[in-house]
Amino acid sequence: MKHLMHRWPSLLLCLLAVLIAIAAHQRAGFAAMDRWPKLRAAMVHTIKGYAATLPETASTGGISDNVLKVMSEVPRHRFVPRRVEHRAYQDRPLPIGHGQTISQPFIVALMTELLKVNRDAKVLEIGTGSGYQAAVLAGLAETVCTIEIIPELGETAAALLKALDYTNVQTKVGDGYYGWPDCGPFDGIIVTAAAGHVPPPLIKQLKPGGRIVIPIGGVFGPQYLTLVEKTAGDQLQTRQLIPVRFVPFTRGSP
Ligand code: SAH
Repeated sequence: MKHLMHRWPSLLLCLLAVLIAIAAHQRAGFAAMDRWPKLRAAMVHTIKGYAATLPETASTGGISDNVLKVMSEVPRHRFVPRRVEHRAYQDRPLPIGHGQTISQPFIVALMTELLKVNRDAKVLEIGTGSGYQAAVLAGLAETVCTIEIIPELGETAAALLKALDYTNVQTKVGDGYYGWPDCGPFDGIIVTAAAGHVPPPLIKQLKPGGRIVIPIGGVFGPQYLTLVEKTAGDQLQTRQLIPVRFVPFTRGSP
């Protein structure tokens, strides 16, 4: 006991050091939590600025406030791997594993804008990937159905969307070429991988007045973001918009 008594100042110092370390750790945690909304706001600012310079978006009034609002709320850092989390709010695509990428935020904003999603809309996404685009759509539409061909990505995204309480998103692992007839028909369909053509089953599952936003082009050749509109009379109107670079639309059963 006497022996310990001699050592109490150093024990006290150790205890103090541990308490300081815990406090510093907690502060760092709170600081990190605090920094995400600021980084998201900066990302939205960048998107707005870019949209104003691009003829395709500037001529139509840029990206709508409701799209920007949702993007200022969805925690993109939760949809990217931890090692690139610090880059989550930069306006660039990021790797999400399995050779796939989460799209650049501006492209997410543009594709969402082009889809013209209403509150009561049912939307289909082909290429769930990280689940980020589905989360953005979930903030605007009534229901989002999303399909991913790589099982690991589809399952991880499904679990994350559930954990983050996106209750209006339905997920499925499979080949999105065939769409999701049981989930449709859809007011809007968004394809987030570059295809050689618009898959006919998607056109079939689109309601009259609906829109498909899809990058069309090859893996090495040029790709163009393409907007397909189905008129009330079931006619198709197709418009090629800006050049883009997407991962390829793949085929086959998962
Ligand atoms: N929207 C995603 C971007 C993912 S990248 C996000 O927000 O993170 C495109 C995704 O499309 C990849 O995960 C790829 O595996 C998937 N994909 C490619 N071909 C597909 C197909 N035929 N059916 C479903 N998903 C497909």
